Order: sequence, then structure tokens, then C-alpha cells
Amino acid sequence: MFVVLALFALLAVWLLAARAQSEKRYTRAFFSMSTMVDQKAYGSKAEAAMDEVEAAFAAFEAALSFYDTNSDIAAINAAAGGEPVSVKPQIITLLQEATRLSAQSDNAFAITLAPLSLAWGVTSDTPRVPTQAELDALLPLVNDADIEIDAAAGTVRLAHAGQAIDLGGIAKGVACNLAREIYGKNGVESAFISIGGNVYVHGKKPDDSAYRIGFRDPTRDASASIASFVMEDKVIAVSGGYERFFEQDGVRYHHILDPKTGAPAQSDIVSVGVIDADGGVADFYSTTLFVWGKEKALEFLSEQGGGCGILLDAENNLYVSKALETSFELVEEGYTVFFI
Ligand code: AMP
Ligand code: MG
Repeated sequence: MFVVLALFALLAVWLLAARAQSEKRYTRAFFSMSTMVDQKAYGSKAEAAMDEVEAAFAAFEAALSFYDTNSDIAAINAAAGGEPVSVKPQIITLLQEATRLSAQSDNAFAITLAPLSLAWGVTSDTPRVPTQAELDALLPLVNDADIEIDAAAGTVRLAHAGQAIDLGGIAKGVACNLAREIYGKNGVESAFISIGGNVYVHGKKPDDSAYRIGFRDPTRDASASIASFVMEDKVIAVSGGYERFFEQDGVRYHHILDPKTGAPAQSDIVSVGVIDADGGVADFYSTTLFVWGKEKALEFLSEQGGGCGILLDAENNLYVSKALETSFELVEEGYTVFFI
């Protein structure tokens, strides 16, 4: 009898220990894709998975970087107008996905914007305002239909000399998909990753409550939220002119360009977050909606439009997709909320 009881006691201790282990929270922070990446994950598999995410992001950035001359993207750009360039299969897939999406943007999103991004250099150490003549000369180079992808041969070619690809508008969202894969493969049941404000939430917290996500107050530091809502197994990508900009002669120039003008998009949106199960899709839409402007963006985010997200305008109106209504909470005063 005593032995049986002792065995039961041991089993109970073991179960409790296993449970505590699965509920233990680990965190990691590192720098990638020009921004801070923060991870939180629970359980015994968490640390290995988070290390793998960090390594995968480094490889992803090395293949993608627009500035790193050794990257696959830099090789494609350097050979523009010349011979096709062999690239990694992931780059083929990514470019297929990016061009499929940009074709739906009504000319608001273009990964061939790179010559213009370079001319402005908003995210570089030496930003400047290009002349209208410069913009006019570069604009004809912006055309995602000029990206020739030969999936069978594993090559990519840009049709004209001077053309270049910049995946900055979807890279962070696609990286969220990479994190999802790695958490899943490692058996992590609960995790959270933020890549410069683009967030992926994997499952629920160990106590079965959902992760609550903040929608950033663009006028304050990154930790201040206007509102919050819950999310599970989804990505939110946020775009806004406040994220990266420079000022010259009292004018603010931000990093989201309008492919039609080659200049920073004259948007009536302050900030827009798009939620989707696919990070690349969410990130594509966040940038696209910002360029589209409020009217068209609200159509997309409304119940009829089928999109999901949050939009803030300059009058402190906060438009929230109906799908978020049940968990939505305003945490700062001074905003008018519309569920759409
Ligand atoms: P996001 O923060 O996701 O809106 O992406 C902004 C980044 O995407 C910029 O830093 C540029 O690298 C790139 N970008 C800017 N404007 C566009 C655009 N209209 N279409 C595609 N990519 C863009
Ligand atoms: Mg984006």
C-alpha cells in the first residue's frame, strides 16, 4: 500500500514539474532586418525554437538584403537588363508571391520601387529629396511585370538595366511565416514574435487565455497603445508614415512611396494594421492600404471587403473591422471608434 502511495506521489510531482516546464516563459531579443525582434515562447522546446528563428532570420536577411552585395536580391539587381541569375528556391517562391500580390494592388505596391527608394534613401544615413527630373527618369523603371521568373530553371531576371527589387514592404510579414513554421516544427504550442511592430501570435498562452495585442500610439514610443484586441495564429502588419522618415526644410518625408509619383505617398492614413493568417499577405496589404488612402482602405477592411484590421486617421478616428469587435478595447482616451 505504502509503495503504491509513494508511486502516486512521485507521479504527481513529476506531472507538476512537467506542467511547470511547459508553462515556463523564455524570451529572446535580437536585431534583424533593420529592427528589433522580440520573441516570447513557453515550454521545454522554446529556447531551441527561438534560436532556430534567429538563425533563420539571419539567413533570410542575407538572401534578401537590398544593401548586402552578396544577397540573391542584390545579384538580381546587379544583373538587371543582362543575363538571368540563379537564386535559391525560397527566393523564387517569394518573388512569385510578391508579384502575384503586387498585381492586385492597383499600382500602389511595387517591389521594383527600389531605384526610387535608393534615390530618397529614407532609411539610409544620407536621405535627400531627389529632383523632379530624377524622379521622372526613374519612374519608368518601376514595373513588377518586368520581373522574369523562370521557376524551372531557378533563375530571375529584370528586363531593363537600372531596375531593382526591394522586398522591404513584405519581408517582415514573410519572416513571421518562417517563425510560425519553426515553432510548429519544434512542437512549441505558445509563442509571440514582434518584428519591428509586426506581430505573429502562435496559439494561446499556457493558461488558455488568448494573446492580447496592442495597437501602437504613433505619437508616443513603441510600447504605448491606443487600443488592444486578441489574436491567435495570425499576423498583424502595421504601416505608417511615422515609422521611418526624415525632415528637410520643415517637410516630413516618410518611407512609403507611391509608385505612381515616386514620392512619399500623400496618405490620409496615420497608421493601418492588417491581420491575416499569412504574414506576407498582411504585410503586403498594410503597405498597400496606406498608399490607397482611407476611402479605399476602409472598403477593404469593412465586413463586405473581407479584410481585417485597424485604421487610424489624422482626426483620431479609429476604424476597426467587425471581426475584432468582441475583444477590442480602447485603452487611451480621445479616439472615436467605428466598427466597420
Ligand atoms: P511597410 O513598413 O511594410 O509599409 O514597408 C515599407 C517598406 O517597403 C519601405 O521601407 C520600402 O522598403 C518598401 N516600400 C515603400 N513603398 C512601397 C510600395 N509602395 N510598394 C512596395 N514596397 C514599398
Ligand atoms: Mg508592409
